[in-house]
Amino acid sequence: MFIVWGRKITRRTVGYVADFCGVCRVPRAFRMTRLGSAGHVYYISFGEGKLVGHQRTCTSCGAFSDADVNAYARVSKSSGPMETLKRETHPGLDEALEQRLALEVRVKTAPHLLSEEERLGLIFSPINLLSPKVERHFATTHMDGGVALAIAGGIGLCFVLPVVGSAISSSYGPPGFLLGLVAGFGLLIWQLIASGPRFMRKEILPLLAKSLAPVKPSEAELERALREFKQAGHKIGKKLTAAQVIEAIRS
Ligand SMILES: [Zn+2]
Repeated sequence: MFIVWGRKITRRTVGYVADFCGVCRVPRAFRMTRLGSAGHVYYISFGEGKLVGHQRTCTSCGAFSDADVNAYARVSKSSGPMETLKRETHPGLDEALEQRLALEVRVKTAPHLLSEEERLGLIFSPINLLSPKVERHFATTHMDGGVALAIAGGIGLCFVLPVVGSAISSSYGPPGFLLGLVAGFGLLIWQLIASGPRFMRKEILPLLAKSLAPVKPSEAELERALREFKQAGHKIGKKLTAAQVIEAIRS
């Protein structure tokens, strides 16, 4: 018998901490997750495994990154209210953010007075923070609404086409089934290909556009940023175009 076994990453929410979210551009509650490496047999693991690190996820936008759990005073069991969470988990946050929040005020009041370096930093930051979400999505095949509909449509065609075929001529039944199978596969492949751009359009572009809107980036600045991410091997740089981002910011 073939036994499937190995190691897999286990995730467990350990609580919440307050920190600054570079995508939301304000302090937010972050969900802290413990990442473990546990042995599994047929993908069923026992226990949470050896600690490999922590990850924090913004509870508002879903951007996540590696986290140092020791950087916080403690991890709270509940996510709110914000002032209580700040006091409990990150008492020095306001002081630590003084400069960053002053920069945010300048972004809002006089974006044209920002230096080129400040502007690029503000454009790079949310792209960098959303990059792990894009990498995780494209690392596995995902079943979204379109893919599920394509599977349902393909199965439906395998039933309907033989019936329609037999109604025309008795010899058209079996080829009808084959035609349904081929058309069903075609539908599935088409939707699997379309699901990538759909994820970028629905899950990434709105967040990126909202985050970048106050900076009012030019197409050239965005092109430069996306090109650098692409060159560094980040999929986000390949899956988005500057024109798409500009359009999302305007809409
Ligand atoms: Zn956020």
